[in-house]
Amino acid sequence: MTPEQALLRVIHCLDRAHETGFKAKAFGRALDVVRSTPPDELAERAANNTLTDLEGIGSSTAAVIGDALAGREPTYLAKIEAESQVPITPEGQTYRDALKGDCHLHSTWSDGGAPIAAMAATAIALGHEYIVQTDHSARLTIAHGLNEQRLSEQLDQIDQVNADIAAMGHDFRVLSGMEVDILEDGALDLADEMLERLDVVVASVHSKLRMESKPMTERMLMAVASPHVDILGHCTGRMIGKRPPSEFDADYVFAACAQFHTAVEINCRPERLDPPRPLLDLAIEYGCWFSIDSDAHATGQLEWQPHGCDRAAERGVPIERIINTLSAEELLAWTA
Ligand SMILES: [Zn+2]
Ligand SMILES: [Zn+2]
Repeated sequence: MTPEQALLRVIHCLDRAHETGFKAKAFGRALDVVRSTPPDELAERAANNTLTDLEGIGSSTAAVIGDALAGREPTYLAKIEAESQVPITPEGQTYRDALKGDCHLHSTWSDGGAPIAAMAATAIALGHEYIVQTDHSARLTIAHGLNEQRLSEQLDQIDQVNADIAAMGHDFRVLSGMEVDILEDGALDLADEMLERLDVVVASVHSKLRMESKPMTERMLMAVASPHVDILGHCTGRMIGKRPPSEFDADYVFAACAQFHTAVEINCRPERLDPPRPLLDLAIEYGCWFSIDSDAHATGQLEWQPHGCDRAAERGVPIERIINTLSAEELLAWTA
């Protein structure tokens, strides 16, 4: 393991543990330093115990770099590997075992922390057959959302990543997609001809979450009924302990999801876990389709599907209604 690989793995584990504070920043900085320092200098500094003289390297990060250079498994990495395992119930494991992919995740193209190739490599290691690359649309400027021009550049890069993956002999695909903003009037934040080019479209509300129930219901219905939309992302927009769920008529929305074949996302982010239990129960009653998605913004967060699997098992979501238990081909047939 090289120092770079060791630091990347530590960062993966910190992300998986949802550690976003000081430690994550320190290891991110150390990674930048390692990437920009000649290997000879790193080795010499490790031998002379002067790694910490480099700006951005502290004692913990120096220890990881030193261990890696000495050919040892870094002690800190072994500890964080063990501590950051994502728990899952036996019932949830049945759902996790059935998943073949992940339909909602971000990359450095918008507000994610890892490039598409790194997200794909992690998904391959997790046993997935595909991921859908769903970066934000242009309206979400704080998340560096993609306009049509950048989306079309991203589609070219996805082709390249897929060619590289195939050349490595993996049976795995990055499908194209986007997490498209549902605008205030229910229109989608991307032109129809671009939506048509995408394999899978997630539509989510990210603005005016406190809108009154009636206009919010209409807004969501418009998106759910769109022939381009495949998945309704984190339907209530809640942030547990921070932001209450949006108000809308869930009967109308889930009835429409069932009718228009728009899957209700079971969002696995620990601060979202959306929909809340009573709404999930209602969506099951309406016979909706579901998608258990990580909404990962870093490689480690791709390991969050157990949160949604546990919730799905607890509420009794029918496994055959979960679209990411389908193979890539079946999923593409379903979205078409
Ligand atoms: Zn979102
Ligand atoms: Zn997202």
